[in-house]
Parts: sequence; structure tokens; C-alpha cells
Amino acid sequence: MDSAINRKWSLLCLPKSRHRPVTITEEQASLLELVGRSFNLVMARDEKLRKVYLGHGHAVEAEATLGLRFPSGWTADIIHDEDAGAKYRSYDSVVAAPLISAFPDAQVSKFFRLSEFRPGRRVYDYIRLSPELLEALDEIRERAGRPVTVISGYRPPDYNRQAGKPSTSTHVDGLAADIYSDGLTTYQLRGICEKVIGRRGGVGYNPKSGYIHVDLRGYQARWSGS
Ligand SMILES: [Zn+2]
Repeated sequence: MDSAINRKWSLLCLPKSRHRPVTITEEQASLLELVGRSFNLVMARDEKLRKVYLGHGHAVEAEATLGLRFPSGWTADIIHDEDAGAKYRSYDSVVAAPLISAFPDAQVSKFFRLSEFRPGRRVYDYIRLSPELLEALDEIRERAGRPVTVISGYRPPDYNRQAGKPSTSTHVDGLAADIYSDGLTTYQLRGICEKVIGRRGGVGYNPKSGYIHVDLRGYQARWSGS
């Protein structure tokens, strides 16, 4: 028997409150923490700014100035967008990875270093790099069984324009990488990427260029050609 009590619902906490935060009391904040915990949500408080953050994963930690934690365990200080200026403006501030310093060449995951995601040879002080993207790239590397080379990772807006790629805004938000793997055909690598990325993001393939674009845009996208 299908009783109303046992019927399941999907809870969607849409990430739109950043620009219109809800005012809450100290008491409600404590209550939120309890409720959040039972749903495995992360809650963080920024005592200085008097802000409470509730949600999933790195976005919450980042905003609460606890630092951005990468799969390797290395943690980076968050640079606030206002301090970095328009040069590093994100495309979608809700989903973009936070800004961090581009200089420490840290091991950010099992197989990748921060420097591999810097934009070209030009000097930029900051970089956006999603820890979730690195987890996905590690898994792709694991399944490929051989080195995976990052051709392009983070691209600040002006750099992205110069590269003539206005449509691939996920690079601007630090959510994308263009990759290839010696010894694997692009067809093989694309198959691996599609499995790993699944419905979480995009996998694109341009036969002329011979590399695969992967991103974690939050919904499934697939394309080939230019
Ligand atoms: Zn790309």
C-alpha cells in the first residue's frame, strides 16, 4: 500500500540566496545546524561577516573563508572577487570555483598540480579551480591508465576572449579542462570522460583539435565538432 507518509520527495535548495540572504537569529542558526547535519549539509559561520552558510561541499567552505580544500588535502586561502577585480570576473558567480592564488605549485590531487591549470604563459595572479573537477580528472586519469595532459584549464575572461572561445564559459569559472592522453585515441578518452562526468556536466570533442573538453556545469551536455 502506498501511503502518503512513505512517499518520497526531492528537496531542492536552489542556490539563489547569495544576493538576497535571509536574516536569521542566533537561535535559528543553531536550529539550522541541527537540521543541516541530518541531511549531511555543510554549515559554516563567518564570525567576522556575521554570515552563516549552508549547503554542499566546497562552495560553503570557500565562502566561509575556511579555505578551499583540494582532493590532495592541500588547502588554499580564498581571494574575494571584489579584491581581485574585474579581470577575474566569473561567468556564473553561483557555480564558479572561488579565486585562489595562482603561484603555489601545489599538488592539488593525486595526479595534478596547480600549475597545469594556469592560463597559458601569461601572468595571472589568481586562478579558479574546482576541487570536484580535479576529483573527476583523477578518475579519468585512473581509468585511462596513462598520463592525462591538460591543454587548458582556467581562463580569465580576457584570455578566454583572445582564445576565441566565448562559448566555453565553464573555463572562466574554473569548472573545465581540455585534455588529451598519449596512447589513447580521442574516441577512447571521450568514452572514459562521458562515464566519469555523467550527468554532472559537459563532454565536448572537436575532431580537428584532437582533445576532449570536460566540465562540471551541473547538468549534462555533449557535443562534437566546433
Ligand atoms: Zn574547453
